[in-house]
Amino acid sequence: MAASAFSLKASTDSSSTRTGACDLFLRCRNRDLVLVSSRSAFVSSGLSGLSRTCAPVLKSGRIPTKIEASSAPVMDQSQRKASSRLSTIVDVDLGDRSYPIYIGSGLLEEPNLLQRHVHGKRVLVVTNTTIAPLYLDKVINALTYGSSNVLVESVILPDGEKYKDMDTLMKVFDKAIESRFDRRSTFVALGGGVIGDMCGFAAASFLRGVNFIQIPTTVMAQVDSSVGGKTGINHPLGKNLIGAFYQPQCVLVDTDTLNTLPDRELASGFAEVVKYGLIRDAEFFEWQEKNMQALLARDPSALVYAIKRSCENKAQVVALDEKESGLRATLNLGHTFGHAIETGFGYGQWLHGEAVAAGTVMAVDMSYRLGWIDESIVRRVYNILQQAKLPTAPPDMMTVEMFKSIMAVDKKVADGLLRLILLKGPLGNCVFTGDYDRKALDETLHAFCKS
Ligand code: NAD
Repeated sequence: MAASAFSLKASTDSSSTRTGACDLFLRCRNRDLVLVSSRSAFVSSGLSGLSRTCAPVLKSGRIPTKIEASSAPVMDQSQRKASSRLSTIVDVDLGDRSYPIYIGSGLLEEPNLLQRHVHGKRVLVVTNTTIAPLYLDKVINALTYGSSNVLVESVILPDGEKYKDMDTLMKVFDKAIESRFDRRSTFVALGGGVIGDMCGFAAASFLRGVNFIQIPTTVMAQVDSSVGGKTGINHPLGKNLIGAFYQPQCVLVDTDTLNTLPDRELASGFAEVVKYGLIRDAEFFEWQEKNMQALLARDPSALVYAIKRSCENKAQVVALDEKESGLRATLNLGHTFGHAIETGFGYGQWLHGEAVAAGTVMAVDMSYRLGWIDESIVRRVYNILQQAKLPTAPPDMMTVEMFKSIMAVDKKVADGLLRLILLKGPLGNCVFTGDYDRKALDETLHAFCKS
């Protein structure tokens, strides 16, 4: 890992927004918060003639955006325990494929939450060698408690991004077929984004689709990958190139699982939290600027708030554009550069969020070079990612040519044209576009790569 890419600066106050002790039901209903097409009124043209520099741009602004959600009571009081004082539900509104995201402490100790989403009598829990000793028994207990006719099997996969591949996926099918699972089975993903993506793809394709539940155990998975139905595996030539859209029956986020998550993994997830603020929720970004310290210290209420708000943002986008015809692509801010880092550096060398963080800085740098954002946004992005102890530049071994050749096979290439998510206008606004000056991309790549 390029140590130089990391900085350990941090200082914030943790006293801001807190979720209450009561249960809430949050149904996202805002339909128009993200700017996808360019809003020329917001575009600054004064910087478009930037000359090429050999260093990332930097120099200082601000703005508001809002988010709306309605609240109502959620769980029966009888289902509550003292341990789940922070529970919340965010609803993903997809018509007859809508599903709840349960968020709170102690939720794995509430069997009802899981059991109501199990179809049939056979359950396959897909997890890995790290998570199984920590949480598998608890999940099996939650699935079977008071329900003796449910039979649970598990498959324990090797741990790591480098195993998010066809060979490892086969182990899930092997287990399901050997154990005679039928179409009324339920697959449960217990783990981070790697397990969630693989288990989801297995559920989408086994017998052409079986019931599927997500129990995400990393910040990355709790704020992003478990929500919205993107499933899949990597190919040696590119990340997530093989997969399917397949929605779960529910997502159960027990924030207590984060207590065992290593610090580096925790921070990695905050890259996606920062993303929501940048692309569509400036108010949330401002909250993060004040509360990053509390998040890093695993303050339970700060974590629940950040997860809830992230899930609300993702749920709104997914409800509007499930299959990524435009708007949903904006959730990939920094990911085109980031995926190039993950592929070029080798899967697993950097964590996904670390690569996304460096990629976000590059996308923001390019947005500034295009004259689309104020330089204060560039500075604030650096600052918050540094506070989160995330990299703000790619690893030294990445070259301009590596970026170019890997980005050329990105899923967002259409008719040979690389489309990117770039910030445009006040904080909280972005565009997904292939209509940008290629010179700015070149300048950014040269500014961040030694060769
Ligand atoms: P990960 O799944 O590899 O998990 C990170 C590490 O933490 C692993 O070693 C895992 O075993 C361990 N771990 C997980 N939960 C733990 C816990 N509670 N306690 C201790 N250790 C724990 O990585 P990730 O960051 O969760 O996810 C990254 C993956 O998610 C990438 O493959 C990325 O492409 C994918 N992703 C998908 C989407 C989507 O929309 N489908 C979105 C974002 C990311």
